[in-house]
Amino acid sequence: MNNTLLAFLMAPAGTLSATLLWLVVGLCVGSFLNVIIHRIPIMMQRESDNYLALEQDQPLVHEDSYNLIVPRSACPACGHTLGFKEIIPVFSYFKLHGRCSNCGTAISPRYPFIEFITGLLSAIVVWQLGSEATGISALIFVWMLIAMTFIDIDTQTLPDDLTLLLLWLGLLINLNSVFVPLSDAVIGAAAGYLFLWMVFWVFRFITGKEGIGYGDFKLLAALGAWLGWMMLPLIVLLSSALGAVIGLIMILFRGHQREHPIPFGPFLALAGLVALLAGKPLIELYLGYPL
Ligand SMILES: [Zn+2]
Repeated sequence: MNNTLLAFLMAPAGTLSATLLWLVVGLCVGSFLNVIIHRIPIMMQRESDNYLALEQDQPLVHEDSYNLIVPRSACPACGHTLGFKEIIPVFSYFKLHGRCSNCGTAISPRYPFIEFITGLLSAIVVWQLGSEATGISALIFVWMLIAMTFIDIDTQTLPDDLTLLLLWLGLLINLNSVFVPLSDAVIGAAAGYLFLWMVFWVFRFITGKEGIGYGDFKLLAALGAWLGWMMLPLIVLLSSALGAVIGLIMILFRGHQREHPIPFGPFLALAGLVALLAGKPLIELYLGYPL
Protein backbone atom coordinates (compact mmCIF):
# COMPACT_ATOMS: atom_id res chain seq x y z
CA MET A 1 0.00 0.00 0.00
CA ASN A 2 1.04 3.53 -0.75
CA ASN A 3 2.82 5.11 2.25
CA THR A 4 0.78 8.31 2.24
CA LEU A 5 -2.46 6.36 2.42
CA LEU A 6 -1.04 4.23 5.22
CA ALA A 7 -0.07 7.38 7.12
CA PHE A 8 -3.62 8.61 6.57
CA LEU A 9 -5.17 5.37 7.82
CA MET A 10 -2.86 4.91 10.79
CA ALA A 11 -2.42 8.12 12.70
CA PRO A 12 -1.96 9.15 16.33
CA ALA A 13 -4.85 10.56 18.36
CA GLY A 14 -6.09 14.03 17.46
CA THR A 15 -5.31 13.79 13.71
CA LEU A 16 -8.10 15.51 11.80
CA SER A 17 -7.46 13.86 8.40
CA ALA A 18 -7.52 10.35 9.88
CA THR A 19 -10.62 11.19 11.91
CA LEU A 20 -12.50 12.32 8.78
CA LEU A 21 -11.33 9.28 6.83
CA TRP A 22 -12.52 6.92 9.56
CA LEU A 23 -15.80 8.82 9.76
CA VAL A 24 -16.43 7.76 6.15
CA VAL A 25 -15.19 4.20 6.81
CA GLY A 26 -17.49 4.14 9.86
CA LEU A 27 -20.52 5.13 7.76
CA CYS A 28 -19.83 2.19 5.43
CA VAL A 29 -19.27 -0.17 8.37
CA GLY A 30 -22.61 1.06 9.76
CA SER A 31 -24.23 -0.02 6.52
CA PHE A 32 -22.76 -3.52 7.00
CA LEU A 33 -23.86 -3.51 10.66
CA ASN A 34 -27.42 -3.02 9.39
CA VAL A 35 -27.00 -6.26 7.45
CA ILE A 36 -25.56 -8.05 10.49
CA ILE A 37 -28.35 -6.76 12.77
CA HIS A 38 -31.03 -7.88 10.34
CA ARG A 39 -29.55 -11.20 9.27
CA ILE A 40 -27.84 -12.79 12.28
CA PRO A 41 -31.14 -13.46 14.14
CA ILE A 42 -32.63 -14.88 10.91
CA MET A 43 -29.53 -17.02 10.33
CA MET A 44 -29.78 -18.37 13.88
CA GLN A 45 -33.48 -19.17 13.43
CA ARG A 46 -32.81 -20.97 10.14
CA GLU A 47 -29.99 -22.97 11.70
CA SER A 48 -32.22 -24.07 14.55
CA ASP A 49 -35.11 -24.93 12.16
CA ASN A 50 -32.77 -27.12 10.11
CA TYR A 51 -31.29 -28.70 13.21
CA LEU A 52 -34.73 -29.65 14.50
CA ALA A 53 -35.69 -31.03 11.09
CA LEU A 54 -32.53 -33.17 11.01
CA GLU A 55 -33.22 -34.45 14.51
CA GLN A 56 -36.67 -35.60 13.41
CA ASP A 57 -35.43 -37.06 10.09
CA GLN A 58 -37.42 -34.46 8.20
CA PRO A 59 -36.20 -32.69 5.02
CA LEU A 60 -34.32 -29.43 5.70
CA VAL A 61 -36.60 -26.42 6.09
CA HIS A 62 -34.15 -23.99 4.47
CA GLU A 63 -32.05 -25.16 1.54
CA ASP A 64 -31.09 -21.83 -0.05
CA SER A 65 -27.97 -19.91 1.01
CA TYR A 66 -28.53 -17.14 3.48
CA ASN A 67 -25.57 -15.45 5.15
CA LEU A 68 -24.06 -12.00 5.57
CA ILE A 69 -23.10 -11.82 1.87
CA VAL A 70 -25.79 -13.82 0.06
CA PRO A 71 -28.47 -12.92 -1.03
CA ARG A 72 -27.86 -9.30 -1.97
CA SER A 73 -29.78 -6.63 -0.04
CA ALA A 74 -33.29 -6.10 -1.35
CA CYS A 75 -36.40 -4.11 -0.50
CA PRO A 76 -38.39 -6.19 2.02
CA ALA A 77 -41.67 -5.04 0.42
CA CYS A 78 -41.10 -5.70 -3.30
CA GLY A 79 -37.86 -7.70 -3.44
CA HIS A 80 -36.13 -5.11 -5.65
CA THR A 81 -32.35 -5.73 -5.38
CA LEU A 82 -30.56 -2.60 -4.20
CA GLY A 83 -28.13 -1.09 -6.68
CA PHE A 84 -24.91 0.73 -5.87
CA LYS A 85 -26.62 4.14 -5.76
CA GLU A 86 -29.11 2.83 -3.21
CA ILE A 87 -26.59 1.59 -0.67
CA ILE A 88 -24.48 4.70 -0.13
CA PRO A 89 -24.66 5.17 3.66
CA VAL A 90 -27.01 7.92 4.92
CA PHE A 91 -26.84 9.75 1.57
CA SER A 92 -28.98 7.24 -0.35
CA TYR A 93 -31.72 7.42 2.26
CA PHE A 94 -32.11 11.17 1.80
CA LYS A 95 -31.62 11.01 -1.98
CA LEU A 96 -34.51 8.52 -2.18
CA HIS A 97 -36.58 10.55 0.32
CA GLY A 98 -36.66 7.51 2.59
CA ARG A 99 -38.53 5.35 0.06
CA CYS A 100 -37.78 2.30 -2.09
CA SER A 101 -36.94 3.49 -5.63
CA ASN A 102 -39.03 0.68 -7.10
CA CYS A 103 -42.22 0.41 -5.04
CA GLY A 104 -42.13 3.56 -2.89
CA THR A 105 -42.48 1.72 0.42
CA ALA A 106 -41.03 3.78 3.30
CA ILE A 107 -37.58 2.65 4.50
CA SER A 108 -37.05 2.65 8.25
CA PRO A 109 -35.06 5.73 9.38
CA ARG A 110 -33.22 3.31 11.66
CA TYR A 111 -30.94 2.29 8.77
CA PRO A 112 -29.41 5.75 8.21
CA PHE A 113 -29.45 6.31 11.98
CA ILE A 114 -27.26 3.24 12.60
CA GLU A 115 -24.94 4.32 9.76
CA PHE A 116 -24.74 7.81 11.21
CA ILE A 117 -23.96 6.78 14.80
CA THR A 118 -21.41 4.21 13.59
CA GLY A 119 -19.66 6.93 11.56
CA LEU A 120 -19.83 9.42 14.42
CA LEU A 121 -18.57 6.99 17.08
CA SER A 122 -15.78 5.80 14.76
CA ALA A 123 -14.66 9.41 14.34
CA ILE A 124 -14.77 10.00 18.12
CA VAL A 125 -12.75 6.83 18.80
CA VAL A 126 -10.08 7.71 16.22
CA TRP A 127 -9.86 11.31 17.39
CA GLN A 128 -9.39 10.18 20.98
CA LEU A 129 -7.36 6.98 20.61
CA GLY A 130 -5.81 7.38 17.16
CA SER A 131 -6.00 4.74 14.44
CA GLU A 132 -3.03 2.57 15.35
CA ALA A 133 -3.32 -0.72 17.29
CA THR A 134 -5.33 0.72 20.21
CA GLY A 135 -7.67 2.79 18.07
CA ILE A 136 -8.38 0.06 15.51
CA SER A 137 -9.03 -2.46 18.31
CA ALA A 138 -11.38 0.04 19.95
CA LEU A 139 -13.23 0.47 16.64
CA ILE A 140 -13.89 -3.27 16.40
CA PHE A 141 -15.09 -3.21 20.02
CA VAL A 142 -17.49 -0.32 19.36
CA TRP A 143 -18.79 -1.75 16.07
CA MET A 144 -19.59 -5.06 17.73
CA LEU A 145 -21.34 -3.30 20.60
CA ILE A 146 -23.54 -1.40 18.13
CA ALA A 147 -24.54 -4.65 16.40
CA MET A 148 -25.36 -6.36 19.71
CA THR A 149 -27.34 -3.37 20.98
CA PHE A 150 -29.78 -3.42 18.08
CA ILE A 151 -30.02 -7.22 17.90
CA ASP A 152 -30.93 -7.21 21.61
CA ILE A 153 -33.52 -4.45 21.07
CA ASP A 154 -35.07 -6.43 18.19
CA THR A 155 -34.96 -9.94 19.61
CA GLN A 156 -34.22 -9.70 23.38
CA THR A 157 -31.24 -11.98 22.69
CA LEU A 158 -27.49 -11.46 22.58
CA PRO A 159 -26.14 -14.14 20.21
CA ASP A 160 -23.20 -16.23 21.49
CA ASP A 161 -21.63 -15.77 18.06
CA LEU A 162 -21.11 -12.12 18.98
CA THR A 163 -20.71 -12.06 22.80
CA LEU A 164 -18.20 -14.93 22.91
CA LEU A 165 -16.32 -13.59 19.87
CA LEU A 166 -16.03 -10.22 21.62
CA LEU A 167 -14.80 -11.95 24.78
CA TRP A 168 -12.07 -13.91 22.96
CA LEU A 169 -11.02 -10.87 20.96
CA GLY A 170 -10.66 -8.85 24.17
CA LEU A 171 -8.40 -11.48 25.75
CA LEU A 172 -6.31 -11.85 22.58
CA ILE A 173 -5.87 -8.12 22.11
CA ASN A 174 -4.78 -7.72 25.72
CA LEU A 175 -2.09 -10.39 25.24
CA ASN A 176 -0.08 -7.31 24.27
CA SER A 177 -1.66 -5.18 27.05
CA VAL A 178 -3.34 -2.95 24.45
CA PHE A 179 -5.94 -1.72 26.95
CA VAL A 180 -5.02 -3.48 30.20
CA PRO A 181 -2.51 -6.15 31.30
CA LEU A 182 -3.67 -9.69 30.42
CA SER A 183 -4.19 -10.60 34.10
CA ASP A 184 -6.64 -7.69 34.51
CA ALA A 185 -8.44 -8.84 31.37
CA VAL A 186 -8.78 -12.47 32.50
CA ILE A 187 -10.00 -11.46 35.96
CA GLY A 188 -12.32 -8.94 34.30
CA ALA A 189 -13.88 -11.62 32.11
CA ALA A 190 -14.43 -14.04 34.98
CA ALA A 191 -15.63 -11.39 37.44
CA GLY A 192 -17.99 -9.83 34.89
CA TYR A 193 -19.68 -13.16 34.22
CA LEU A 194 -19.84 -14.19 37.87
CA PHE A 195 -21.20 -10.89 39.08
CA LEU A 196 -24.27 -10.87 36.81
CA TRP A 197 -24.70 -14.64 37.30
CA MET A 198 -25.01 -14.00 41.05
CA VAL A 199 -27.38 -11.06 40.53
CA PHE A 200 -29.49 -13.33 38.30
CA TRP A 201 -29.79 -16.05 40.95
CA VAL A 202 -30.39 -13.68 43.86
CA PHE A 203 -33.06 -11.83 41.85
CA ARG A 204 -34.65 -15.10 40.85
CA PHE A 205 -34.58 -16.38 44.41
CA ILE A 206 -36.29 -13.23 45.75
CA THR A 207 -38.80 -12.51 42.96
CA GLY A 208 -39.09 -15.85 41.16
CA LYS A 209 -38.45 -13.97 37.89
CA GLU A 210 -35.57 -13.79 35.46
CA GLY A 211 -34.51 -10.15 35.19
CA ILE A 212 -31.44 -10.55 33.01
CA GLY A 213 -30.29 -13.26 30.65
CA TYR A 214 -27.19 -15.37 30.09
CA GLY A 215 -26.29 -13.19 27.12
CA ASP A 216 -25.90 -10.28 29.53
CA PHE A 217 -23.40 -12.23 31.68
CA LYS A 218 -21.37 -12.99 28.57
CA LEU A 219 -21.47 -9.39 27.41
CA LEU A 220 -20.25 -8.09 30.79
CA ALA A 221 -17.54 -10.78 30.71
CA ALA A 222 -16.50 -9.47 27.28
CA LEU A 223 -16.42 -5.88 28.55
CA GLY A 224 -14.23 -7.06 31.45
CA ALA A 225 -11.94 -8.85 28.99
CA TRP A 226 -11.45 -5.67 26.98
CA LEU A 227 -11.32 -3.02 29.68
CA GLY A 228 -10.16 -4.95 32.77
CA TRP A 229 -11.86 -5.69 36.08
CA MET A 230 -11.34 -2.12 37.39
CA MET A 231 -13.96 -0.87 34.93
CA LEU A 232 -16.62 -3.36 36.03
CA PRO A 233 -18.06 -1.36 38.97
CA LEU A 234 -18.39 1.70 36.74
CA ILE A 235 -20.04 -0.31 33.95
CA VAL A 236 -22.47 -2.00 36.35
CA LEU A 237 -23.37 1.31 38.05
CA LEU A 238 -23.84 3.17 34.78
CA SER A 239 -25.83 0.46 33.04
CA SER A 240 -28.16 -0.13 36.00
CA ALA A 241 -28.75 3.61 36.42
CA LEU A 242 -29.44 4.02 32.71
CA GLY A 243 -31.66 0.95 32.68
CA ALA A 244 -33.65 2.16 35.68
CA VAL A 245 -34.20 5.65 34.23
CA ILE A 246 -35.10 4.47 30.72
CA GLY A 247 -37.26 1.65 32.11
CA LEU A 248 -39.18 4.11 34.27
CA ILE A 249 -39.65 6.52 31.36
CA MET A 250 -40.94 3.69 29.16
CA ILE A 251 -43.40 2.54 31.82
CA LEU A 252 -44.62 6.09 32.53
CA PHE A 253 -44.89 7.46 29.01
CA ARG A 254 -45.34 4.51 26.73
CA GLY A 255 -47.39 2.27 28.96
CA HIS A 256 -44.67 -0.36 28.71
CA GLN A 257 -45.79 -3.40 30.65
CA ARG A 258 -43.61 -4.18 33.62
CA GLU A 259 -43.91 -7.87 32.87
CA HIS A 260 -42.41 -7.45 29.41
CA PRO A 261 -38.63 -7.36 29.96
CA ILE A 262 -36.60 -4.45 28.64
CA PRO A 263 -33.33 -5.77 27.17
CA PHE A 264 -30.33 -4.98 29.38
CA GLY A 265 -27.69 -5.48 26.66
CA PRO A 266 -28.01 -1.98 25.18
CA PHE A 267 -27.33 -0.39 28.59
CA LEU A 268 -24.31 -2.62 29.15
CA ALA A 269 -23.04 -1.73 25.68
CA LEU A 270 -23.53 1.98 26.26
CA ALA A 271 -21.80 1.77 29.65
CA GLY A 272 -18.95 -0.15 27.98
CA LEU A 273 -18.58 2.63 25.43
CA VAL A 274 -18.46 5.28 28.18
CA ALA A 275 -15.91 3.18 30.08
CA LEU A 276 -13.75 2.90 26.93
CA LEU A 277 -13.79 6.62 26.18
CA ALA A 278 -14.00 8.19 29.63
CA GLY A 279 -13.60 5.38 32.16
CA LYS A 280 -10.33 6.46 33.69
CA PRO A 281 -11.27 10.10 34.41
CA LEU A 282 -14.69 8.97 35.73
CA ILE A 283 -13.12 6.47 38.13
CA GLU A 284 -10.59 9.07 39.28
CA LEU A 285 -13.50 11.42 39.86
CA TYR A 286 -15.29 9.08 42.22
CA LEU A 287 -12.18 7.71 43.89
CA GLY A 288 -10.94 11.25 44.40
CA TYR A 289 -7.31 10.40 43.45
CA PRO A 290 -5.46 9.64 40.20
CA LEU A 291 -5.19 5.99 39.11
ZN1 LIG B 1 -39.62 -1.88 -2.86
